[in-house]
Formats: sequence, structure tokens, C-alpha cells
Amino acid sequence: MRQVIIIGSGPAGYTAAIYAGRAGLKPLVVASSVEAGGELMKTTEIENFPGFPEGLQGPDLMFKMQEQAERFGAEVLLDDVVSVDLEGDVKRVTLGSGDVEEALTVIFATGSAYRKLGIEGEERLSGRGVSWCATCDGFFFKEKNIAVVGGGDSAMEEATFLTRFATKVYVIHRSESLRASKIMQQRAFDNDKIEFLYNKTVTEVVGDEKATGVVLTDTVDGSTSTLDLDGLFIAIGNDPRVHLVHGQLDLTSAGTIAVDGRSSKTNLTGVFAAGDVIDDTYRQAITAAGSGTVAALDAEHYLAGLPKDLLDQATGAAPAEPVTASA
Ligand SMILES: Cc1cc2nc3c(=O)[nH]c(=O)nc-3n(C[C@H](O)[C@H](O)[C@H](O)COP(=O)(O)OP(=O)(O)OC[C@H]3O[C@@H](n4cnc5c(N)ncnc54)[C@H](O)[C@@H]3O)c2cc1C
Repeated sequence: MRQVIIIGSGPAGYTAAIYAGRAGLKPLVVASSVEAGGELMKTTEIENFPGFPEGLQGPDLMFKMQEQAERFGAEVLLDDVVSVDLEGDVKRVTLGSGDVEEALTVIFATGSAYRKLGIEGEERLSGRGVSWCATCDGFFFKEKNIAVVGGGDSAMEEATFLTRFATKVYVIHRSESLRASKIMQQRAFDNDKIEFLYNKTVTEVVGDEKATGVVLTDTVDGSTSTLDLDGLFIAIGNDPRVHLVHGQLDLTSAGTIAVDGRSSKTNLTGVFAAGDVIDDTYRQAITAAGSGTVAALDAEHYLAGLPKDLLDQATGAAPAEPVTASA
């Protein structure tokens, strides 16, 4: 049995592993079989992670985090967790290989997935004009023409934020009225850099090396048109990866794992959560990393309070000789 299993290998998971490793907890990181490193593996330039003034490539940052975690004794397993049993003192984690790992604590750092449009050109031009994060990528679109897809609060917020950089921001929405709150709509309506295109869906992103435009389909009459653009921001929602914990952990109304205040403590003792899977608001590499720190420290404090015999099972310490009364 182990002391800590961390599920997920994004900034939250690897940072938790660095802290748990340095605390001597020998964490197992179940990193995913095909998506180890998390969301930043899908992007190119990261310019807002502190400590790298020249910026660096997303995969380079994640390989450095993995290396740092392994340096302190973390074991990184390229496998997926397929089910979990989180009740009781000993948690059980079943892997895609069929193996079952046991631990006294589990940290969920499974992240969240931006919803995709599922159209031609979207994946191919991701990081080359197609983005899901205005905070991350807005800076790259100074004096450019760009569009935001979506009609909710986050689409309005992204569009308004992007006018700081872009010359023109189209908001493309599939129906004739927005879902966003009135105040967010009004803020966008008042911004003369924003133009609304209603009853339109984006059906293709065009471009070879980078996005150069989109094909729009009118949802009323089915006609198509093209719109030249330098970038497309997709703001149609986000799904925290919580399928493993349905029925076991409490979730918030936003679908994230519920934690107690500023801590990483879930409703079950010994189970912690960190990163984008608990965060409906900030969703940045540095906030996820900070949250991973909190989870590792919470797990460490929890372990310190467990009975010695339970801890000995996880650390492999020999059980103490029973004390017998001398004759
Ligand atoms: C294209 C793009 C560009 C971005 N650019 C920036 C940027 O420039 N700056 C910035 O600060 N942020 C950026 N972000 C946001 C940033 O990537 C996230 O906020 C951050 O990665 C969240 O970290 P996390 O550890 O919580 O989750 P993630 O990075 O999503 O990692 C979660 C990990 O858990 C794994 N996992 C999930 N379920 C299982 C399972 N059952 N078994 C095993 N593993 C599992 C996943 O495969 C993944 O490896 C960007 C995001 C995207 C999509």
C-alpha cells in the first residue's frame, strides 16, 4: 500500500507530486496513458508562467515538472485510472492495466476539458490561431481580427477582454439571442470593437500553417459564407473530468469537485482534489500548480494524524514487536 496516489499529470498533479515527494511520501502519479502532461501538452508558447522570462513551450514546461517530481521520488505511471473506491481508510484505485493500487490518500488532479466544436481545422490549427483561453493567448493577437464562438457569460467576458489587444472581435452565436447575463451582454454591446453575428455556426476553420478564416453556416437558411480572421476563440463551455467520482464525491453546481474552503479537502477523509477539476474560474497553469501544493500539504497533514499501524502498512515499516510481560 502507498501513502499517496495522485491521479493526473498536469501542473496540479506534478506540483502535488513534487511536494509529496519532498515530504518523503513516495507518491504514485497515474499520469494517463495518452495524455500525460495535461492540457499544456497541446499548446506552444507559454509566456505567463513565472520564472521563464523568455517564455517556453508547453510540453517543455511539463517535462521539466515531471523530471522535478521524479527527482524527489515520485513514480510516474503512464496508465489511466478506470475506477476508484474512496470509502474507508484504504482507498483503491483500479488502473487500465487491471492492476489495483491501494493508498491512504488520493489526490484528484484530473483537470477539465474545454468543449470542442468538432469541426474540420479545429484540432489541426489549435495553438495556431485556434484557442480556448483568452487569458492565455489574447496577447498574441495584437491588432488582429478575431472571433469568439459562444453566447454565454464566458464568451462575453472573453470577447470584451480580447478587445484590449485585437482591432476587431466578432462574437459568433448560433441563435438570435445570447444566453449571457444582461450585464455581461451590455458590457459587450457597449464595446465598439465587438460585432455580433447571430444565427451562425462555425463549420470549418481554414488555413494551412495558421488559421486564416472560418466558414460560417446560417442556422436559418443554411447558406454558407467565409469570414477572414487571424484567430478564433472557442468559448462554449468546459467539462471538469469528474466521471470517476460520480456518486462518491460531492460536486459543485458548476460540476467541479467540491472542496472545503481554500483547502483541497473533499467530503471524504483522505481524498483531496486540486487544479482545474476544482476551479470553475481561474483555470491557469500557475493556479493549478498552487492548488496542487495545497493538496499535497493537506494530504501530508492528514497522514501525520493517522494511527501508526495504518501508516506502517503504507510505508512498509516492520510492525513493532508486541511487548510481552517479563516473567
Ligand atoms: C490550448 C491551451 C493553452 C493554454 N495555455 C495556457 C497558458 O499559456 N498559460 C496558462 O497558465 N494556462 C494555459 N492553459 C490552461 C492550463 O493548461 C490549465 O489551466 C492547466 O493545465 C490545468 O492543470 P491541471 O493539472 O488542473 O489539469 P490538466 O492540465 O488538464 O491535467 C489533467 C491531467 O489528468 C489526466 N487525467 C484525467 N483523468 C485521468 C484518469 N482517469 N487517469 C489518469 N489520468 C487522468 C489528464 O489526462 C491530464 O493529464 C491552456 C489550456 C489550453 C487547453
